[in-house]
Amino acid sequence: MGFYDVYKQYEGFDFEGFFQSRTPDDVRKALAKEHLEVTDYLTLLSPAAGNFLEEMAQKAHRITLRNFGRVIFLFTPLYLSDYCVNQCAYCSFNARNKFARTKLTLEQVEEEARAIAQTGMKDILILTGESRQHNPVSYIKDCVGVLKKYFCSICIEVYPLEEEEYRELVAAGVDGLTMFQEVYDPGVYARYHNGPKKNYHYRLDAPERSCRAGMRTVGVGALLGLADWRKEAFFTGLHADYLQQKFWDVQVSISLPRFRPSIGGFQPDYPVDDKSFVQILLAHRLFLPRVGITISTRESPEFRDNILPLGVTKISAGSSVTVGGYARPDGMAPQFEISDPRSVAEIKQMLIQKGYQPVFEDWQQWDSLEKQLYNF
Ligand code: SF4
Repeated sequence: MGFYDVYKQYEGFDFEGFFQSRTPDDVRKALAKEHLEVTDYLTLLSPAAGNFLEEMAQKAHRITLRNFGRVIFLFTPLYLSDYCVNQCAYCSFNARNKFARTKLTLEQVEEEARAIAQTGMKDILILTGESRQHNPVSYIKDCVGVLKKYFCSICIEVYPLEEEEYRELVAAGVDGLTMFQEVYDPGVYARYHNGPKKNYHYRLDAPERSCRAGMRTVGVGALLGLADWRKEAFFTGLHADYLQQKFWDVQVSISLPRFRPSIGGFQPDYPVDDKSFVQILLAHRLFLPRVGITISTRESPEFRDNILPLGVTKISAGSSVTVGGYARPDGMAPQFEISDPRSVAEIKQMLIQKGYQPVFEDWQQWDSLEKQLYNF
């Protein structure tokens, strides 16, 4: 059984009717519970709960403090290549967009690694466009070989792989996976995707394959803006819950990427405003008290600072979303426009001012720890 079996249980469910039927009393009852049922979670995503954001925020804050303390983990993305064979309508790297594509050589990867490491960052997320031909697993593995000299934690956000390939990358030093399903609704998914990414089920099962392969952390998410956010948020939370229950030793997290402008001028059908974004964040935190929640530089500085206490556990900082953008910050096409251009030092300062402890290293690969301890 995979997550799609869970998804299927809601086929034919009248989401619209359920959401519209929720009353303030239903919201109060859900908020009073220690452990939320799935229907409580749906209730907190309903329009009625939109009038209880303050109460939800207070509870979400308490739960977050209890489970995570006043700690925020920091990471930065590193783009290795923008070659992509897919045609996602909402992404600059869409194969149809004409611009000079780039792929870092191992020397350039090292150059990027040095530039990032100088900021104090220890946790990176490496990304490629989805092209097996240009960015084969062997290339990703070689890059990891370079990067693990500089970083304690290396996560990947690449095309979906076979379980054995994930195992290979784990052995090479990768410890985390981020895999955005983009859209959980299969009909909408089919509309926005062309190329190998059209295979909805292969993507949906990728986080589970990576868990079986020994990944330490796994992150899921939907690109907010592509479909009805109440349903998309619901299935994202169910997916995280499914993984958490099935793989108790894997640290599961949710990201909330909100659509940002990209080459091609795509406009989302379901733009998510700040208030709705906050409601999603709070509902996730109340339903899944132990799941990590990541907020990226897609959000503005002011907004990120304000939502920190509501359940956020990890943020990106000092981000470049272009290939080679750390060592050479100009020239290449970004995957999307970022909203928070602050440096790592500025983010660190902001966190301290707000009474949070910025954490650069929550985990260290045993082989590099061994090297430090025993000077191997
Ligand atoms: S979202 Fe990913 S798969 Fe789609 S065009 Fe962009 S890089 Fe390629």
